[in-house]
Amino acid sequence: MANPLSPTKKTSMQRQSREIKIGSVKLGGQNPILVQSMAATRTQDIEGTRRQIAILEKAGADLIRIAIDSQKDVEALKILREEAKTPLVVDLQESYRLAEFLAPLVQKIRYNPGHLHHHEKGKSKQDKVAWIVEKVAPHNCALRVGVNCGSVDPEWLERYPKDHEKAIVSSAIENCEILDKLGFKNYLVSLKDSDPNRVVAVNKRFHLLCPSVPLHLGVTEAGLPPEGVIKTRVAFEQLLSQGIGDTVRVSLTVPFEEKGQEIYVARGIIEDIQNGRFRSVSYYENAGLNIISCPSCSRVENEKFVELAQKVKDMAVFAKSHKLTIAIMGCRVNGPGETDDADLGLWCSPTFVNLKRKDEFLGRFSYEDILPRLKTEIKRLIT
Ligand code: SF4
Repeated sequence: MANPLSPTKKTSMQRQSREIKIGSVKLGGQNPILVQSMAATRTQDIEGTRRQIAILEKAGADLIRIAIDSQKDVEALKILREEAKTPLVVDLQESYRLAEFLAPLVQKIRYNPGHLHHHEKGKSKQDKVAWIVEKVAPHNCALRVGVNCGSVDPEWLERYPKDHEKAIVSSAIENCEILDKLGFKNYLVSLKDSDPNRVVAVNKRFHLLCPSVPLHLGVTEAGLPPEGVIKTRVAFEQLLSQGIGDTVRVSLTVPFEEKGQEIYVARGIIEDIQNGRFRSVSYYENAGLNIISCPSCSRVENEKFVELAQKVKDMAVFAKSHKLTIAIMGCRVNGPGETDDADLGLWCSPTFVNLKRKDEFLGRFSYEDILPRLKTEIKRLIT
């Protein structure tokens, strides 16, 4: 008998995207939806990152992403790629010029248009993208235009100060147009946010205007399970069921040894949607306490970050009925920006944790002292 909680939904999963190639792997078109994840360790920690790759391979990842920020990371990648059985793809963080060294080594490179803006300010973005294409095209290396809510190209934010979603979508489309004009078609796009409702909105908006461009879906900083899984499921149900999305990444804050969870969760969600086992929740109702936290990556400054996120969640349970957002991030590079929309923001360094209330910086606290101070701040905000 059919489970009444799992009614069969009508889905239109026929996708309109074009096919692109990530090395020997085909993405988009009617190819299976690829599941990917990212190493949570510092890339130069060869042992740790090797272990992350092994865990993700065992879980069945189709693609494994590594963050690269420096020439030393490139050297580490050279060693790691020799041993990896799964195609490795790279997240170019701030240093887009590293694309030159990475293109011969990997099958796909992600660049963030928001980060491009901050480099070589005298150079146009067209010229910067053209430079990247010049380096990757001879190696048949694909590109991902990775637009992130926390680091949108400021030019678009200035143009649409009251419509953040339009700024996100416009930045993505601008980059597609630049790539198209250059005759480079082996690319896909991602539009990510920590709010699943916004992920749905911007991806639908983009897809309507650019239906042939393959999409990488994800709710960034979805946080700890089970909330992180629920947020992701709500977004994926509404997009994948409509034929939007060609590859997915589930971003969870989990211990490094449990990183395979991201792959298992993604496969479970895709399988449920493909079999009509979903509820069509049209809006993620965030009525009470909302904790967002990043999944960690090569920039993470202390492995204690994952434990800290769990402790914050446990400690803050007394405030669960209050509409309050607490953001916990693993590094000082993206931490300050990614916590901007939160009521209370924490971001880690090797020996201390930074804390802010809205945009007011409250100070640095040891990993032991941060919890009582955070508790005081929560109480202040809810009483
Ligand atoms: S906040 Fe920092 S550590 Fe966390 S995923 Fe983003 S860059 Fe990586």
